This record gives sequence, structure tokens and C-alpha cells, in this order.
Amino acid sequence: MKRLAAAVLFLAACAAAEAPPSETAAPPAVVSPPPAESPSAPQPPSLACAGALTQGGVALCRAAPGAEIFIAGESAGRADANGWTVIGFNREAPASVRVEARAGGQSAAQELAIAPRQFDIQRVDGLPPQTVTPTDPAVLERIRREAELKRAGFASLAQMEGFLDGFILPIEGGVVTGRWGNQRILNGVPSTPHFGYDIAAPTGTPVRAPAAGVVTLANPDMHYEGGLVFIDHGQGLITMYLHMSRLDVAAGDVVTQGQVIGAVGSSGRATGPHLCWRMRWRERQLDPSIAVEGLATARAQLASN
Ligand SMILES: [Zn+2]
Repeated sequence: MKRLAAAVLFLAACAAAEAPPSETAAPPAVVSPPPAESPSAPQPPSLACAGALTQGGVALCRAAPGAEIFIAGESAGRADANGWTVIGFNREAPASVRVEARAGGQSAAQELAIAPRQFDIQRVDGLPPQTVTPTDPAVLERIRREAELKRAGFASLAQMEGFLDGFILPIEGGVVTGRWGNQRILNGVPSTPHFGYDIAAPTGTPVRAPAAGVVTLANPDMHYEGGLVFIDHGQGLITMYLHMSRLDVAAGDVVTQGQVIGAVGSSGRATGPHLCWRMRWRERQLDPSIAVEGLATARAQLASN
């Protein structure tokens, strides 16, 4: 709750950062401060963003239907027919991120203040060696093959608005055993940050879709992830479910919020039964635990605009 209050404050602080219409074609290479302007009513095309404005956070923006969206000068798709766009900020997001919407030769921009976060160092020991430092050629080949499957699953950009559902937690109860973004040391070997939110729960605990979406990957036996499911909730906002003991969905299935997609397990690189819940948007790793509150708040604020 504390984190959310901070995000709302940042929204209030940057809501007036609306740029005048511009024909400029080249996006800025670096984040620049918002241009000086009078506090008059915003001109079309408008742009308003709200949500969890933190490293690893997710937010929603509203702009003209079909407007082209740019994040820090980089193309990030288009607003849908209702003007909604989902955006996210990675673990290393800078203190300020410029979002721009372009439509009909005009543009609107907002400078979002992104709250920094502290990340802990977490040691995990007792993992099977071939899941930490694989050397077996057959294992390496399998990892390469599975990386392709994941790439295909991440490439999805579903045209749906599941991200407006207001996310629920995928399992009831359980104990949080790993926070998102922690620096990891696996069997003594420094590893990449942990981009999951780990909830320990008994094997067989039902896992539910947090929001509507389309399944883009469902594989019962991945080397690292074990039973793995990806769901695209629209515009490539993808949630992932790792180490599952059972899968109840197949790639291509359209799921509704709350639908059981499988069950908690300890398959793949896991020390015990838990759900490793992950989120991703356009190559950026996001923190799903923040998205639960961030998306609901963002929708409520922007829908009343
Ligand atoms: Zn995890």
C-alpha cells in the first residue's frame, strides 16, 4: 500500500507535463525535461498515464485511438480503439521516462517520474548443478531449443484488453519466499537478478489467470521452468507461471479472469513447491506483485478522465 501511495503522488506531480503539438520526426535520444507551458486545458491528441510508476512497475496510458506510442523515443505500439495502452518500466529504469503519443501529425507527451527501488541479495543453495551451470551438450541443446519456444511466446501482441481487468493474485494463500528483482547467488555462483515473485504453496494448489488473456505458451517440461505457461493480457503484457505440476490450458486458449490454468509444483529449477510468477512487456521484465494494485488504480483514474 505504501508503494502505491508513492506512485499516486508521482502521478499528481507529472499530470501537467503535456507537450505542445509537434511535427518533429526524430524522437529525442535522451530523456529531456518537459517544455515550459501554460496550464491550459490539454489539446488533442491528449495523453494521460497512471499506475505503478516505479522500477519494475506497470502503468496504463490513454491517448487518441490508434495513436502511436513512444517510450523514451522508442516505438512501443499503438493505443487501441478505445485509446488504451499498457506500458512498463524495467529494473534499471531511469528517474524520468518520457512517454509520447503521436496521431494525425500531432503529438502529446508526458514525463513520468519513476521511483527507484532497493534490491536485496538472495542466496539459493542445493539446486541441481545442471540447472545452474549446465555443461552436458544435450542439456545445452535443450536450453537453446526452449529459448526459441519462449521467444515465440513473448512475441505475442494480443489485441485484447485483459490488462483492464484489475489483476487478482494467481493463488490464494501461500507464503512469499522471493521478491522480484533480487540479485541471486545460485549454489554460490552470482546469477542474473530474479525476475519472479515466488509464492510457496503446496503442490496441487490451483493457479488462476489473474486477468483475461490468450495462452501463448504451455509446456509441461521445460529445463529451467518445468511446467510453464505464458498468458498475453493484451499488447504483449505477458504473465508467466513456472514450476507447475499440472497444466490445464494449451497454447491458443483464451482464458477468463480466475480460470484455473494449472497447479503449483516444483518442476524445473526449484528447491520446493512454489509458484514463480513473472511479468513481461516488450522485452522488459516487470514485477507482477506491483501490477496487481497498479493496474486497478490506473484504470480507475484514467477512466474518469
Ligand atoms: Zn522465482
